[in-house]
Amino acid sequence: MTKSYSIVALKGDGIGPEVTEATIRVLEAVEKKSGFKLNILYGEAGAHCIPEHGTNLPKETIELIKQSNACLKGPMTTPEEAGAPVSVAVTLRRMFGLYANVRPCRTFPNVESLKPNIDLVVVRENTEGLYSGVESLLAPGVGIALRIITKEASFKVADFAFKLAMQRRKHLTYIHKGNILRITDGIFKDAVKEAQKNYPEVEVDDLHIDAATMQLIKQPEKYDVMVTTNLFGDILSDEAAQVTGSLGLAAGANIGVTYGMFEPVHGSAPKYTGMNRVNPIATIMAGAMMLDWLGESAAAKKIEEAIIAVLKEGKVRTHDLGGEAKGTEITDAIIAKI
Ligand code: NAD
Repeated sequence: MTKSYSIVALKGDGIGPEVTEATIRVLEAVEKKSGFKLNILYGEAGAHCIPEHGTNLPKETIELIKQSNACLKGPMTTPEEAGAPVSVAVTLRRMFGLYANVRPCRTFPNVESLKPNIDLVVVRENTEGLYSGVESLLAPGVGIALRIITKEASFKVADFAFKLAMQRRKHLTYIHKGNILRITDGIFKDAVKEAQKNYPEVEVDDLHIDAATMQLIKQPEKYDVMVTTNLFGDILSDEAAQVTGSLGLAAGANIGVTYGMFEPVHGSAPKYTGMNRVNPIATIMAGAMMLDWLGESAAAKKIEEAIIAVLKEGKVRTHDLGGEAKGTEITDAIIAKI
């Protein structure tokens, strides 16, 4: 029997619709060449929903997600005013227990990169830390934010990172600021050491976050899997994406026990809305990661190989890659390779 998967696509805000539509075109092209069926369900989410629904994540969308196998999420705008709804990504990560955020960063052919041989993955704890959402104003001009770190969440993400390291070069670096955040990062460090007992083959080292941001520039090729807490991972993975070329190429997976949500690392880049100018590859890569997670690794590989072939040829390049091609042109080139 043909395998079939229900995918919720959330197009999001700004450049979200164009990069999500590009990805769906690529997924449909690969579906035609493979033995599975994708049932794409469209949901509404993002800042554009707030005027009508009073929220950026309407109930109908949550119900749709509950019935699906995975979610492809376009970037969304998050209003920054106090009292505005929490980011959709943060809500979904917590609601569906998507505890590991996985962001691969590697050198691509013909894409300017700090070093020619970078291939690392940042694994970021996705449900707590400074993203706890617990903030208060103690007095005018004095605020606090709670950085919640638990042994349970730290162990889960560390165990995930060790499993990933076992499939790769068996090297794991954990990143913290244990010299200053002695209690919270002490819990994180202890949880990593606890998880390490089950993976004696993995070489383990650690870095303070400030040193890690520097090392990513100095010798990024040295790292394989980097695991860290929520905010440190957010910053480090954006840096790693830029070190390997462009935010327009970086994808991320949000993985839970039974559900996965896949998205580009970049945001909604509002100034480029509707210009057909940005690079859709990050979201297309997120689509490939989704297929891989669903168990369709051959199809995922086909997409990655098509992207690499287009980059290697170097004829169709979007602005972020130093070219003039439109987003739809690079999507067409990828589909032609598939
Ligand atoms: P951004 O990632 O949207 O854009 C920063 C810059 O990166 C852009 O101006 C552009 O030069 C470049 N860029 C981004 N995507 C690109 C692409 N596909 N191709 C080529 N270049 C690209 O970051 P921002 O301006 O800080 O944030 C804009 C909005 O996005 C904010 O509301 C923010 O909260 C939101 N955001 C959402 C997510 C998400 O949905 N997961 C992630 C990050 C930011």
